This record gives sequence, C-alpha cells and structure tokens, in this order.
Amino acid sequence: MNKLVLVKYAPEIFLKGLNRNKFEKKLKNNITKKLKDVEHQIVLDQGRWFIKSNDLDEVVDRVRRVFGVQEVSIVTEIEGTLDNIKEEALRRVKESNAKTFKIETNRANKNFPKNSMEISREVGGYVLSNLGDNVSVDIHKPECKVQVEIREGSTYVFTNDDRVKGVGGLPYGMNGSTMLMLSGGIDSPVAGYLMAKRGVELNCIYYHSHPYTSERAKDKVKDLAKILAKYTEKVNLFVVPFTEIQMEIIEKCREDELTIIMRRFMMRCACYLSEKRGIQSVSTGESIGQVASQTMEGLVVSSDVADRPVFRPLISMDKEDIIDIAKDIDTFETSILPYEDCCTIFVPKHPKTKPRVLEIRKSEEALDIDTLVEKAINEMEVYKF
Ligand code: ATP
Ligand code: MG
Repeated sequence: MNKLVLVKYAPEIFLKGLNRNKFEKKLKNNITKKLKDVEHQIVLDQGRWFIKSNDLDEVVDRVRRVFGVQEVSIVTEIEGTLDNIKEEALRRVKESNAKTFKIETNRANKNFPKNSMEISREVGGYVLSNLGDNVSVDIHKPECKVQVEIREGSTYVFTNDDRVKGVGGLPYGMNGSTMLMLSGGIDSPVAGYLMAKRGVELNCIYYHSHPYTSERAKDKVKDLAKILAKYTEKVNLFVVPFTEIQMEIIEKCREDELTIIMRRFMMRCACYLSEKRGIQSVSTGESIGQVASQTMEGLVVSSDVADRPVFRPLISMDKEDIIDIAKDIDTFETSILPYEDCCTIFVPKHPKTKPRVLEIRKSEEALDIDTLVEKAINEMEVYKF
C-alpha cells in the first residue's frame, strides 16, 4: 500500500481559460522550488497532481503554504478492484472511530464496470455489514467521509482526517510586482502577505531614520522580510536613509504638516525606486480611519505624488482582523517587539487630519524634492532574503 500527497489547486485557476496552462505551469514550478531539498516526484494523472516522497509530512507542510494550493491530502493508493476498495474503506472507517460515515466516489476511469453511485452504495453496504450496529450512514454530516478516486492507473482513498487546508490565492509571480512599504508594525507585513497571496511579486522598502531609529528597529524589519520570504521567493529589502528628508521637512515646513509631507516623501521614494527597478505598483499597510494620518484626505494627498497604482489591501479591514492574519502568518510576535518607528519620533502635536493637496504642494515648494529623493535612494542598502 502506497501513500502519496494529492494536491488540489484553487478553483479560480480552473476559470482562467486559455491562461490556465500558464497558471498550472507556474504553480507546479513554485511547488518544485518549495520542495527543492526534499526528495519527491510530481505525477500528473488525469488533471490531478500527486506527489510521491518518503517524507510526506514535510511535503504536506510545505505545499499547503504555496499560494494557489487549495488543499492537500495524504491518500492511499490501492489497486482498483471493488474488493480492495471495500477493504480499504472498512479499515478507514474503523480507524476513525466515527459513528457515522459516508462513501463518496469519483470515477475518472470510465472503464470501471460500475458507476460512482453503485460503487458508493456497495462499499457503504460492505462497511455497514462489517461494523454492524456501531455505525450508520449519514450523507449530510458524516463524521468520517471516505473519498474514493478511481483513475486509470490506480485508485486513491482518503478521508476528511487526511485533508489539510491550503493557503489559497494564486501562484506567486503571476500577477506583476509591487513595492511594499514595510515598517516594523503589524499592518504592513500583512498587506504584503495579502498582495503576494494574489500572485504579486514582493519587493520591500523601509525608511530608516538613523540615529533616531536603532539598528534593532532595522533588524526587526529584516526579520519581517525574512518571514514574508518564506511564503514567496527571494525578497529584496531596500533600506532607505530617511533622516535628512525628515530634518529638511522639520526645518522648512509647518509643524502640523510634517506627517503628511513625510508620507508624500515615502511615496515618492517608493515610486522613484520602482521606476528604476521596473516594479509596477506600490503597496502600504494603511486602513481607512485607523490613525490620524489615515483619513480619506490623508490618503488622497499621499497618493497625489504617486506615478503608479497604490494598493492598500487592508483598507477596509478592522485592526482585530489584521491581527488575526498577522498571528496566522507568524509576523505578529516580531511586529509587537517594542522598537521605535520613524513616524513615531517626529509626531506633530496636532497633525492635520484633513490636508488639502494644493496647500501641501505649496508648502513643499520650500524643499528641493528631487535632490532629496535621489540622494536617499542612491544611499540605500539592499538586502536579499
Ligand atoms: P504598520 O503597522 O504597517 O506600521 P501603522 O498602523 O503603524 O502601520 P503608519 O505608521 O501610519 O501606520 O504607517 C502606515 C503605512 O505606511 C504602513 O503600513 C507602511 O506601509 C508605511 N510605513 C510607515 N512607516 C514606514 C517606514 N518606516 N518604512 C516603510 N514604510 C512605512
Ligand atoms: Mg507603523
């Protein structure tokens, strides 16, 4: 009796029409990359993907985290005779200690002498006659659902206990690229994860205000980028020195406009670097109304300087829900480490919550914007994780 991993990919991929091949190819490639140091073999059988390996638990654990994977299950491969199926189903129901069960058959091999309904009925009857009064059939909510997949080469049997939910989404790298503004907070890593989950390639930019923000604050952002890289492929982290820009703003602009002007500089640097590197969009961890700078007016005024789409995947999410995802993806514990952030150092006492584009543009006339942006980007450090 052989065990292998059955991979089901997100139903959305089926809807891709002519592009479906491309998506499948990418997903298969991404799975192969994730398993590069695990002995394995991917086998395609009539539209189903199976993975053979002598370390199935490791395969399940890694493959379920590949974007585009809906579900993985460890299945038992048997020779597809009706007697074998009956024995295996009986063994599985017994093993599960369930009081109720159901047999569900999928017959891809149309040469099999009976149809799906007949097989389910006969196998179910066999289980009942052997386990007697201890179990009954429940077709709606069975405790143990035995799934039988009859294919040309082999037959596969598995139960709900063998199924593990995958992360879903679309294959990484299929949907363009973004520059994620990654701070050390809770939100931006979650925003990056959500973009990557939809197949968008991630690059990260972090604004560092040495000596006002410490090396440890920078290390925290590096750690967050490393965690994100576990879900993606190699992630670039650009660390941009931001102190000079902040000092200029403090010196030359009104106090209540510091935050919004600083945000516009972050946006400009992200766009400028994206242009240089061929990255199509920018993403942030902002959520409407979460803090004083994340008002609709604030977002409008910071987007005003962007020359490409700005995505804010958390825009409509509550903090509690963002925290749940952060915990799920393992960034939360790192995000809550108490190191200062450049935005918390230079906080005006009464920041403008309703800035206006024309006013802010006017205030910025005192600054040599292009030189400041170019200099910051020229002096950035690059890390790859
Ligand atoms: P986060 O939890 O992501 O830090 P936040 O709730 O603290 O977000 P802000 O500090 O207002 O909110 O930042 C809003 C967004 O701006 C962040 O989600 C992030 O995308 C970006 N950002 C803020 N500070 C930095 C920084 N130092 N470097 C890079 N991006 C930053
Ligand atoms: Mg923050």
